[in-house]
Amino acid sequence: MRIWDFAGIMGMNLREIGEFGLINRIREWMAISHSDLVQGIGDDVAVIEMGEKALLVTTDILIEGIHFERSWINPYQLGGKALAVNLSDIAAMGGTPKYFLISIGLPKNLLYSFISSLYRGLKEEAKRFCVGLIGGDTSLSNKIVINICLLGEGKKENLLFRNGARVGDDLYVSGTLGDSALGLKILKKRGPKGEPKGLVEKHLSPFPRIKLGQAIAKHHLATSMIDISDGLLIDTFHILEESKVGARVWEGRIPLSKLYKKWILSYTKDPYQIALCGGEDYELLFTAPRVIRKRISSLSLSLKIPITCIGEILPKKEGFHIIRRDGKEYSPLHLGFDHFK
Ligand code: ADP
Ligand code: MG
Repeated sequence: MRIWDFAGIMGMNLREIGEFGLINRIREWMAISHSDLVQGIGDDVAVIEMGEKALLVTTDILIEGIHFERSWINPYQLGGKALAVNLSDIAAMGGTPKYFLISIGLPKNLLYSFISSLYRGLKEEAKRFCVGLIGGDTSLSNKIVINICLLGEGKKENLLFRNGARVGDDLYVSGTLGDSALGLKILKKRGPKGEPKGLVEKHLSPFPRIKLGQAIAKHHLATSMIDISDGLLIDTFHILEESKVGARVWEGRIPLSKLYKKWILSYTKDPYQIALCGGEDYELLFTAPRVIRKRISSLSLSLKIPITCIGEILPKKEGFHIIRRDGKEYSPLHLGFDHFK
């Protein structure tokens, strides 16, 4: 029996255990070792060896009232986003997405036009990333529920996991951070017509970094990689935990968009809080040895995607620190989004 059984975990609720605590328990309960299983629970996608190639499998759910409100997002955008969030997990491995299944729970009074529009959005996103729908399931539900399971492939030796970061590596992030979470704040306060549109759009229609992920993997430019879905701090922490290392992140180096900088102070006093902890950026966060800095700048230039070095990997015993712009250092207590907290 484990220590947490003795500690009375059976009487604890999910708020106390937290989303990631729960996933860690599930991982222990269901531990398996199959010779063809390269990666089970614990990364952005599961990886199964299939001869020359590896099969990649990931799933993500969107629930009305939790992940979206019908008054904020139109069905076309919802279809696109349901697929985009799954595509982003394949991007985080450096893989190629191929096929997907979709299971939907729908209320009886939902208009047919809503569903047809949702599937138009889905089809457009599928076309953009060359993936095809191969099945799913349909059920009655009080709220709209959309679950996609996306399959992809990759060369095993190129794939990037959360567990490869090494002491001395640089920590990089693509694009800009915080736009989506600020867009969500604007939606909550002002509805879908809220200004500026650019930030709201980042939240409603995220763009998965498939090409960037593939280029980083193909050219072996990273030691570990994850996509930022729950927030910079918590997703950095996932890399640190899986790689058994620590890190230092410079707040002032975090890339912020012009729109974010212009609007952030109208919504919160601390301009970095949302960029550090807000989720749904769907940017790539990766670690790479210092010696390939020049190659990473060339990749950024050739793909026209900003890539910024925001920190460095430390030995585990040094922990996880954020250096504020005034030079003060702190260890974050609240890392980011957790469904049950
Ligand atoms: P991501 O944010 O990249 O989608 P998650 O934090 O949702 O990743 O999940 C982390 C890992 O835990 C993944 O390997 C995922 O498949 C697994 N996972 C999440 N929820 C469950 C669950 N209820 N049962 C089994 N595995 C789960
Ligand atoms: Mg992910």
